[in-house]
Amino acid sequence: AIRVRFAPSPTGMFHVGGARSALFNWALARRSGGRFVLRIEDTDEARNRPEWVEGIISALAAIGISDQDPVFEGPYFQSHNAEAQREAARTLHAQGRAYYCDCTREALVERTGSQQLGYDGHCRDRGLEHAEGRALRFRTPDTGVTVVDDVVRGRTEFPNNAMEDFVVARGNGTPVFILANAVDDIRERITHVIRGEEHLSNAPKQQLLWEALGAVPPVWAHLPVIVNEKRQKLSKRRDKVALEDYLAEGYLPEAMVNYLMLLGWGPGDDVEIRPYAELEERFRLEDVNKAPAAFDVKKLAAFNGEYIRALDEDAFVQACQRWLTAPHAPWEPEAFDEAAFRAVAPLAQTRLSVLSDITAYVDWLFLPEPPEDEASWTKAMKPGAEEILASVRRRWAEVDWTAEALKADLEAVAGEQGLKLGKAQAPVRVAVTGRTVGLPLFESVQVLGRERTLARIDAAAA
Ligand code: GLU
Repeated sequence: AIRVRFAPSPTGMFHVGGARSALFNWALARRSGGRFVLRIEDTDEARNRPEWVEGIISALAAIGISDQDPVFEGPYFQSHNAEAQREAARTLHAQGRAYYCDCTREALVERTGSQQLGYDGHCRDRGLEHAEGRALRFRTPDTGVTVVDDVVRGRTEFPNNAMEDFVVARGNGTPVFILANAVDDIRERITHVIRGEEHLSNAPKQQLLWEALGAVPPVWAHLPVIVNEKRQKLSKRRDKVALEDYLAEGYLPEAMVNYLMLLGWGPGDDVEIRPYAELEERFRLEDVNKAPAAFDVKKLAAFNGEYIRALDEDAFVQACQRWLTAPHAPWEPEAFDEAAFRAVAPLAQTRLSVLSDITAYVDWLFLPEPPEDEASWTKAMKPGAEEILASVRRRWAEVDWTAEALKADLEAVAGEQGLKLGKAQAPVRVAVTGRTVGLPLFESVQVLGRERTLARIDAAAA
């Protein structure tokens, strides 16, 4: 059976690139009846933190990857495998596949006359025994090539004479990442290593280690790099990359999953927005692309908008909850009126692409006065605005309080002033809602009620 793994290092927020790798592994494991192993690579003690481990586990759960599903196995921790990794180092040495080396960096630079060149093999045949301070180096073949047959990238040949005798255990005896990773994969009986392209250069070394340790190397699949709108590699300094940040801003997990699944892969037709179950069913590792995948936040927002519109009324109200309460909502908690919110919710639902925007769409309804927005005010309160407000005020004092009647009155006022409806509407909209843009005006005014609407028009005219 297929056994895949996701092996994050808990050194920071959970990156969308990591989420994409996890999802591809997950889809393959589920559709093939295999297993998905979560292994936390926690051997970098200086950079690991337990809260990052928690963060990874909860972010994975948010996108549907958790021990609730029998396909899931783990989490395992690389640090718990230390004994097996040391044992593997001893085996490599005993078999002559690795040797101890006491060269210092300075000595090497002096011998090779360069900072750049790799290890020159000085200690290869010195037969040094294990001792404190001596690193263990893997003896790479001198001739031939190591072929990494990658599902995504095809066959990549790495000439062995360009591969230095790399370190597998440090002078203090601790195995380095490259060995720990291979040993853990072998112990966990991993059949497919699916991970980001940045690890491609590790693959030939790891393949040699798998073979030296008597294991059949896995199927390799290195996923294409993810780039931003400027075609630069997505980076945490430059771009918003934490899955947690997107979720906290009001991207729905289902939309994130759908979007991330399309980074480097496609379902083979033009239907991009579709439920996870369908994506999973169509997923084939062979169809992953090697070209860089563009992470386009605008497209993601459009996806999210589609997912928001697909929610039923209760689910939408529920999804908005977080942004209708402190600290996001600027109004007093008791000012919130659920019925009023539900009355405008469908208008907002068709317009939102990110849930956090709901606050600004409805704040004027729950604040005692419309929010202050200088720019909107300047734009709308031009000469002539006063007459419009006064005239609308007179009519709306009497009118039947329905959106249609409110609109008919405003059309009449626009006619009197020789203005288009949009122009006549602007000062009224700003007087009532504080902004020049927002939800459809007459439905909004209807929900706000006559008394509050007239008071706001009076305040604006004053
Ligand atoms: N721990 C590595 C990382 O976070 C992953 C290594 C692998 O997938 O082989 O990048």
